[in-house]
Amino acid sequence: MTDFFDIHPRLLEVSRQAEDLCRDPFARIAENEEYNGQKVLSAFLKNGISEAHLKGTTGYGYDDRGREGLDAVYASIFGAEDALVRHTFVSGTHALATALFGVLRPGDLMVSVTGSPYDTLEETIGIRGKNTGSLMEWGVKYRQVDLLPSGTPDYAAIAEAARGARMIYIQRSRGYSLRPSLSVEDIGGIAKVAKEQNPNVIVMVDNCYGELVEKREPTQAGADLIAGSLIKNPGGGIAPTGGYIAGRKDLVELCAYRLTCPGMGKEVGCTLDTLRSLYQGIFFAPTVVASALKTAVFAAAFYHLLGFEVNPSHDVPRTDIIQSVLTGGPEMLCAFCRGIQKGAPVDSFVTPMPWDMPGYDSQVIMAAGAFTMGASIELSADAPLREPYAVWLQGGLTYPTGKAGVILSAQEMAEAGLLKL
Ligand SMILES: *Cc1c(COP(=O)(O)O)cnc(C)c1O
Repeated sequence: MTDFFDIHPRLLEVSRQAEDLCRDPFARIAENEEYNGQKVLSAFLKNGISEAHLKGTTGYGYDDRGREGLDAVYASIFGAEDALVRHTFVSGTHALATALFGVLRPGDLMVSVTGSPYDTLEETIGIRGKNTGSLMEWGVKYRQVDLLPSGTPDYAAIAEAARGARMIYIQRSRGYSLRPSLSVEDIGGIAKVAKEQNPNVIVMVDNCYGELVEKREPTQAGADLIAGSLIKNPGGGIAPTGGYIAGRKDLVELCAYRLTCPGMGKEVGCTLDTLRSLYQGIFFAPTVVASALKTAVFAAAFYHLLGFEVNPSHDVPRTDIIQSVLTGGPEMLCAFCRGIQKGAPVDSFVTPMPWDMPGYDSQVIMAAGAFTMGASIELSADAPLREPYAVWLQGGLTYPTGKAGVILSAQEMAEAGLLKL
């Protein structure tokens, strides 16, 4: 840590010890970064990306070479038959909802096999809210298979549920829960079990926060369809908005029919001036994901040494970029978030406060000072003010700045008199 920041000497010492603990995990992350960096480069070469691809179209966007090239690059990276990468997806939820509405039909049964889906999908499915045009309102049936108490998939229950299902739905990341994130191998195991029972079942994965964390993606392990956000991992901190869907060609086409209209699908949709940033984003993504992973692992080691319970611990191989720290109380939680905010490149001077966020049953506090509003591939922290006062930390465009943010979160707790050093 440099002397640009006035950090308590004890925290500096702990940060050095933490980095010692991180040597092996950092080496694993670097190895993965190299693999995925070259995987992405090879996708550019294979698809002959040229300067012309970086320039967008206006109007209908017929024959937009850049759009088609970007879809092909994503398909190559994900080992998928096709992809739909669009700046007009307003968020990850929009991409996921487009995929669900794209492939499910009235009477179909969707089974979530990783417990309750990410909060924002509850209204899309129809678990929450009325008269919104949810899947359930359109006659799609929904069932849930919870994870076992150990946090692992319940394969027996999944096999049973797959028989009558049209779709098996998997969330790769922990989201904002304390369960472990699923590995691509776990996802492959679920897909195998489900397809043994029902070869026609569609295995769909919410891939948010998981992209490029491992060498393989779910589509390379038996998933038929994946979707995610470009202001998380695959946008590399450069894409200003957008989302993607990738997978089986026939399914991606149905999703494109849903996004635009039946018959037109992928053939339309101008790209304006967005292509360069989307190409550059996926190009940088392996290195940005590695920075976020190093920041998470450092935070795990650092807070563990300070006596906090962390999840996952620094030495566990990662399958998403999320780190949680159990702070122990509401004051600690708020101080942690204030410290993260103080280390943000944008809006470092504002003070995050808990608020009644729509859709949550307790107050929520969020720290984010990002170049792109809401981008959680940039260092950010979120927490509901409730037991066990866990905070979820994710992102970090570069490791030196991510590390500084983490240390500043502890410095803020110390300055508030909440952390004895
Ligand atoms: C971020 C996220 C989503 C989608 O959220 P958006 O904010 O709409 O992009 C869905 N599932 C998981 C697990 C996520 O982390």
